[in-house]
Amino acid sequence: MTQPAAIPRVLSIAGTDPTGGAGIHADLKSIGANGGYSMAVVTALVAQNTQGVRAIHIPPLPFLREQLDAVSDDVQIDAVKIGMLGNTGIIEVVSDWLAAHRPPVVVLDPVMVATSGDRLLDAAAESALRALLHTADLITPNMPELAVLANAAEADNWAAVLQQARQVAAQYQVHVLAKGGHLQGAHAPDALVTPAGTVTEFPGERIHTRNTHGTGCSYSAALATLRPQRAGWEDTVREAKNWLTDSIRHADALHVGHGNGPISH
Ligand code: PLP
Repeated sequence: MTQPAAIPRVLSIAGTDPTGGAGIHADLKSIGANGGYSMAVVTALVAQNTQGVRAIHIPPLPFLREQLDAVSDDVQIDAVKIGMLGNTGIIEVVSDWLAAHRPPVVVLDPVMVATSGDRLLDAAAESALRALLHTADLITPNMPELAVLANAAEADNWAAVLQQARQVAAQYQVHVLAKGGHLQGAHAPDALVTPAGTVTEFPGERIHTRNTHGTGCSYSAALATLRPQRAGWEDTVREAKNWLTDSIRHADALHVGHGNGPISH
């Protein structure tokens, strides 16, 4: 039987954060909080905390494929969230696996650089990542990542963000979630942009906290988890954004680390 399960089985393919705020650790919490059954395949082991990245260890690529096959040989996957991919070799393994085992929902967070400024994707791997974009249903770049994908300078206003999102959605024939979290000011809107250029905006308020570590990871995992449970991307984004906003609102209740703390527990 290939029925979608009432509880969607969601796989995160991403890097780790031993302090629990970002990457796979954030994804697992987000998937559970949004009604999914969470699974994880590790692309890279990252020695990091709320203050920054210290070292990255990438296990042998055949072992990455073993992890992916171990899941898909046994479990029917309803949705995948792809996060940190690290380098070209990892992108190629994930891309090959997806070609054979693509689940109904693929959300790709084009992770490039952490808030701390540390690179999470080799500069040389940017073109390989671009080649993967069209295989996703939805991509969730933050403003700096969107600018890289659009070959433009980082936008400094919402209209420019939407313009870049339209360009990327059309070029890669993929839905783009444009995120206004890096804007200045009182608002933090997001927008869903279709490959045809239709824009649906989701207003949002800015919440003042420095505890935003792992926000993008949590958001993309929530989107992958909610999509099999909702009629379309609009409902999915609305609900995921509400959940994320609530998590950020409660983030100051957590006292984890001395840097940018995590948003959820
Ligand atoms: N660590 C990993 C493994 C990630 O995948 C990501 C982002 O997607 C981050 C860290 C980034 O965390 P931050 O929200 O602090 O930029």
